[in-house]
Amino acid sequence: MNKEAINLFWIRRDLRLEDNTGLHHALQAGLPVMLVFIFDSEILDKIRNKKDARMLFIQQELMRLNDELKTHGSTLKTYHGKPAIIWEEITSSYNVKNVFSNSDYEPYARQRDGQIHEVLKKKNISFHTFKDHVIFEKDEVMKDEGSPYTVHTAYSKKWKARLNTFNLKSHSSEDHFSSFLRCDPCAIHSLENLGFENFEFPYFPDKQVRKEMIENYHNTRDFPFIEGTSRISMHLRFGTVSIRTICRQALQSSEKWLNELIWREFYQMIIYQFPATEKKSFKPAYDRIEWQNDEENFSLWCSGKTGYPLVDAGMRELNETGFMHNRVRMVVASFLTKHLLIDWRWGEAYFAEKLLDYELASNVGGWQWASGSGCDAAPYFRIFNPESQMNKFDASKNYVRKWVPEFDGASYPAPIIDHKLARERCLKKYKEALSAQFF
Ligand code: FAD
Repeated sequence: MNKEAINLFWIRRDLRLEDNTGLHHALQAGLPVMLVFIFDSEILDKIRNKKDARMLFIQQELMRLNDELKTHGSTLKTYHGKPAIIWEEITSSYNVKNVFSNSDYEPYARQRDGQIHEVLKKKNISFHTFKDHVIFEKDEVMKDEGSPYTVHTAYSKKWKARLNTFNLKSHSSEDHFSSFLRCDPCAIHSLENLGFENFEFPYFPDKQVRKEMIENYHNTRDFPFIEGTSRISMHLRFGTVSIRTICRQALQSSEKWLNELIWREFYQMIIYQFPATEKKSFKPAYDRIEWQNDEENFSLWCSGKTGYPLVDAGMRELNETGFMHNRVRMVVASFLTKHLLIDWRWGEAYFAEKLLDYELASNVGGWQWASGSGCDAAPYFRIFNPESQMNKFDASKNYVRKWVPEFDGASYPAPIIDHKLARERCLKKYKEALSAQFF
């Protein structure tokens, strides 16, 4: 055992040294601080595609952090395995007094952190967690009588009323970098060590949000061909930017954009308050829908071969780049659940495999919104017409042409389902399931 008493900072979905709340507290706690990252085998083992761009991103960001730490005479130590076992190992090798981290509100993370808390407690080590990923967490924006909001507009109003400069203030961890443990540099686990492939991936989004983009957001946000949204979601997901910096930008330039950031916090709150919605419909009646779950249709949807150009463009963009514009996410999700009557959980799982910005709370929220089953969802009878959505939001067909160049040629397949028939079938099936509620 290394005898020097130290504190550890466990870095997770907060891959940055600047304005990092938990790290800020760790660095001021009076002992040298070492950074630790665990490649969690419970998560990694479930990733079927071993050529995963998110793994590439995480690994690159960890190397960047390690390089930064080296300039301060310190290092990042990475581990691979089940967190509870890894923590036994770490605390046997180092004289650890405290572990610091930032809170994670997803069901698995909460269960894991509870377990680690117990492991550390047995060894008299304190585990301190901090709010960092959001401006307001789990129970900070509640109705006056104390229950959680389930409607975004009301939540958003209270969120804005609660906001003050203190909530948006950066935590200047950089003022305390001299507190990093001075030690020999360690190498980060390679992707090959972890059972993944290394490859070139040209689609990681930029971390800088352009000022003109935010200022024009209200005009451009709905058009998938224009780069009219920030593409900051992946960086918010992995914490490579601070939400406080992003919200300050929003407050200066665009209330509309701020509202979107509040949707993200709303869903983080919902997954914490209603963890069962990870798997179950928020409105239980929707779990009575008789899904068709046709595997061939699902596979045509996945590969962008439905014969509906906007749906196909979205799916092909997702498959190639890991990104899909929000308007198109809504259209493809509505198409899967309402036109094809395929369970929202199938779509949610496919997006989880492909999206660079995948995060459980927003993904489940988005899918339950589209299928109608969510807390503040599109009503069951609102069935997007993919043709008119295309004519409205991609009138020039520039987006569709980019991803489905053959869309207006003879080789392009006929629609796998007629819109009018699909609409009628959906209304019938949904009504049957919801009849106890509506009729
Ligand atoms: P911008 O329009 O620039 O918005 C700024 C930020 O606000 C986003 O980066 C994101 O953090 C947040 N935001 C915007 N819209 C939403 C929204 N509807 N719900 C929650 N947060 C929002 N977003 C994810 O981050 N991860 C997901 O896994 C995810 N899955 C989705 C699944 C479906 C079916 C749908 C309809 C939406 C999903 N979204 C998800 C929300 C949204 O589509 C993306 O956040 C957005 O497209 C990301 O692009 P952007 O960064 O350019 O967004």
